[in-house]
Amino acid sequence: FTRKKREIGVNLNEVQKQAVLHGDGPLLLLASPGSGKTTTIMMRIGHLIEERGVDPERIKGVTFSKAAADDMKQRYKRMFPALPEVDFSTIHSLAFAVVCDYLRKEQKVWQLIEGPVEDPSDYTANKKLLLRTLFQRFNKEAMTDDQLEEMSNYISLIKNKLLPRKKWGSVVCEVTNAEQIAAEYEAIKRKDPEKLLLDYDDMLTLALEAFEQDRKLLKKYQQRYDHLLTDESQDTSLVQHAIVEKLVEPHQNLCVVADDDQSIYTWRAAEPQYLLDFKKVYPEAKILMMEQNYRSTPEIVNAANEFIKRNKNRYEKNMFTENEAGEPVSIKVFPDYEDQAAYLAQELSKLDNYRDAAVLYRTNSSSILIMNELERARIPFYMKDSDVRFFSHWIVEDILNFMRLTFNNTRTDLFEKISMKCLGYVTRQQLFELKKQPEEGSVFDRLLNLSSLKDYQRKQINGLKRAFERMEGGEPYRVIRLIREQAGYDRALEKMSENLGFSIEYLHDVLSTLEQIAQKETGMVAFANRLKQLESLLKTSKFNKHENAVTLSTLHSSKGLEFKKVYMLDLIADVIPSKSDVKEQDKGNKDPMEEAARLFYVGMTRAEKELELLSYRNRAGSKTNPSPFLLRVNKIINPPEQQQVYESRIPQNPNALRRVSDLEVGRKVKHRVFGTGRIEGFSEDGLEIKFSKGTKRLALDLCLTMGL
Ligand code: ATP
Ligand code: MG
Repeated sequence: FTRKKREIGVNLNEVQKQAVLHGDGPLLLLASPGSGKTTTIMMRIGHLIEERGVDPERIKGVTFSKAAADDMKQRYKRMFPALPEVDFSTIHSLAFAVVCDYLRKEQKVWQLIEGPVEDPSDYTANKKLLLRTLFQRFNKEAMTDDQLEEMSNYISLIKNKLLPRKKWGSVVCEVTNAEQIAAEYEAIKRKDPEKLLLDYDDMLTLALEAFEQDRKLLKKYQQRYDHLLTDESQDTSLVQHAIVEKLVEPHQNLCVVADDDQSIYTWRAAEPQYLLDFKKVYPEAKILMMEQNYRSTPEIVNAANEFIKRNKNRYEKNMFTENEAGEPVSIKVFPDYEDQAAYLAQELSKLDNYRDAAVLYRTNSSSILIMNELERARIPFYMKDSDVRFFSHWIVEDILNFMRLTFNNTRTDLFEKISMKCLGYVTRQQLFELKKQPEEGSVFDRLLNLSSLKDYQRKQINGLKRAFERMEGGEPYRVIRLIREQAGYDRALEKMSENLGFSIEYLHDVLSTLEQIAQKETGMVAFANRLKQLESLLKTSKFNKHENAVTLSTLHSSKGLEFKKVYMLDLIADVIPSKSDVKEQDKGNKDPMEEAARLFYVGMTRAEKELELLSYRNRAGSKTNPSPFLLRVNKIINPPEQQQVYESRIPQNPNALRRVSDLEVGRKVKHRVFGTGRIEGFSEDGLEIKFSKGTKRLALDLCLTMGL
């Protein structure tokens, strides 16, 4: 055992040793981040195999996500390269195997209804389609994306919590008729006794059912493993705990490792309370605590520890470290969120080793802009849960269609696609008339010739035609402005958000991300190509895991990982805690804010040497406020007299133009794309600047971000 310790380079502390050497029976290890929980699981597995002669095939390692299971696999390989493989997986994949086995025995056909839609004409073939259909049936209106998400979470919750039908009402859900929709959803899936429809949650409930119904099957799985070890158990739900309980029933060789302060999935029914009641389930259990952090500098450990202590609903712990002192935790607040992206690219390009750094954010929407900057700076990155939905968002499609029409204004099909967005220009009937005509000449002129056109329509269409003429050959950034302001797109979005319940902030976010990408492109074709390029880059970035690349990740997916340098982004109010966290809390439910704080804490505790917290005052043209969590850290790390003055540091050129009054004819300017030039004059659209390649007209707000 001592020899092994030296080989691995870790000197286990007393508690870790106790956990590793613990004989048979249940063991709970409740410990702080970076205290060596995962390390201890690995060492215990090594010990079981090497010293106690347990067959590696009879050990099962379980963790929360597939990515975490892969990480455990690799860690194990690195620590014990000579030992045979051990089976690490999620409970879901174990349940999946049980369900397949069970249904095969019962000779039942089944179909998974989660994942890609195979047959969109069959509404029962896909969970989302099915829920949308049922919502429509009960509420006589279309379901919004938000309602779909809420409904989906509700169903997940009641099933993961193993709630009987009569208790479904105890779970809050804002969707009208949620209980009835859920009941009908469950009934439809079981309607055909020959062919079951199953979603991911059914895998869990059905696996448990199989264990309860089929003694032989249960025995088979119980006999398969002699030891079960579960990491990140604070994120395990009741149905998952119940499956584990069944599996270890005969021998109770269960090692559960968790940190209640890192529980970030209670919205998906994780049940950290179970850990605090562990003794009730296993009266014989040994319970160990660990508070020494081996990962981070004292600056990071102290800030994180003071931070999480504000949560009331927790198991009292006091994280400390004996590691060497390092840099103070840093807080930076930029004028605008573009500055944050520019700063990151600048900072990351200085790294010797890209893999040392991680950029963490709460929502995926931030990642597009960051990725755009990193790609320009030629910084390789790895994105585990990359989300390409941005590129197929209807707003992106709309903007591209507007642009396509500027290239070929004869196309009726393109006009039809965008006409709805140009509020009230033409009626369905007029569109129908238009489509009957041969596609000759400008679609606007053809429209203007329609006899049914009313005067006010004629005026609007003339306006639209002029807007399109101004767009022709323009810089993409300016074209998007024209689409928004003069073609009526902004108004259309507002109406849609009012009528269909889309979040207007999100729509603006998508648009402003597009604008940011457009800013650095000189033509519309280049802009469209850039979008394609970014999309494919995003798709391939998940293969960069083993390259020397910066990690971009959501806070949720960063759990369990560690990096020398960590940047936490977008620390503004309404992002973390999110609007819905705050709303839930206003209803008297204290937990959502504490859960958001735990998520923030998970992010902070990923850092080994340096932790930077980034925020800004403006996003997409609106003022933003700092996250209350950022203010909390600021209070912890700065003495009172400095608390008000965390002034922004502008990462760009110190001479960057920031005031309109700085502008004057003849002044020399530098533009990121066009190079140096001289201001020739002002026009209603902005500035005219003479560059070596010719005179350009640039929007005023664009010029304001130029370096001078
Ligand atoms: P998290 O809660 O974030 O999942 P954890 O408790 O699982 O963290 P580990 O990832 O196992 O912590 O360990 C954190 C770091 O501390 C690792 O780099 C590990 O090698 C190191 N470490 C763990 N135990 C010791 C020890 N006894 N001596 C020195 N280093 C250790
Ligand atoms: Mg861990």
